[in-house]
Amino acid sequence: MAIKDKVVIITGASSGIGEETAKLLASKGAKLVLGARREEKLKEIAQHISDSGGKVVYKKMDVVNPEENDDLVSLAKETYGKVDVIFLNAGIMPNSPLSSLKTNEWNDMIDINIKGVLNGIASVMPEFKKLKSGHIITTSSVAGLKAYPGGAVYGATKWAVRNLMEVLRMESAQEGTNIRTATIYPAAINTELLGTITDQETLNGFTSLYDEYGISSERIAKVVEFAIDQPEDVNVNEFTVGPTNQP
Ligand code: NDP
Repeated sequence: MAIKDKVVIITGASSGIGEETAKLLASKGAKLVLGARREEKLKEIAQHISDSGGKVVYKKMDVVNPEENDDLVSLAKETYGKVDVIFLNAGIMPNSPLSSLKTNEWNDMIDINIKGVLNGIASVMPEFKKLKSGHIITTSSVAGLKAYPGGAVYGATKWAVRNLMEVLRMESAQEGTNIRTATIYPAAINTELLGTITDQETLNGFTSLYDEYGISSERIAKVVEFAIDQPEDVNVNEFTVGPTNQP
């Protein structure tokens, strides 16, 4: 009931967790606004959702560009008149040992995984402050909770997301803005994410791990659904979610 007619923006909606979350929330009656860089994929997903009776619009955008984040929020307001939830989910994971000095990939992760989230917060905050209500959900990672070799920069970006969200929660409570926050820490979820790894040895290691343990991104979609589907006075703050048998 809490989900029906809620206006939900999702970044990174062209595959994986974002795609499945869009499909699930649309099936529950949410009104979707999808963003990512691959327009063709967004078009296909939007077609699938509208063919199933859901409400959806989409826009090609790069989370690194602040104006394109603003455009996504504007699209939501123009189409549906408001924004209730933003799911800041876009991310990449080109893991590698620090010693391989893939500095361009370090910068891309910082830009997309951290600045992308900040850009989304900056775009939606004026609307949420005006409404005195809103819900910001992010996809961090278990890499934001636990260090591992190969994950120095990716983990650092996901630790950053954790800190941003916890401080946002505290400040929103202090300021009485009624903005809710939820941070999700997934473990191995089968998506296109491993496709961003260019270091062959690292990729081999992750491919075996995901082949052995990976679970469907629909599992994370259900967590987002749960977070949204709570009464307005309940903030479910953090979720660590992974395969039952993943050590
Ligand atoms: P996918 O690769 O399937 O999805 C990533 C999404 O992010 C795509 O829609 C991609 O779309 C989008 N994206 C990447 N860069 C940008 C950008 N610059 N601007 C806009 N959109 C962008 O992987 P997942 O679904 O797994 O990833 C979703 C989130 O989940 C990420 O933040 C990831 O770090 C996190 N995560 C995933 C885990 C897993 O095991 N799969 C575990 C823990 C966390 P496009 O390329 O079209 O722009």
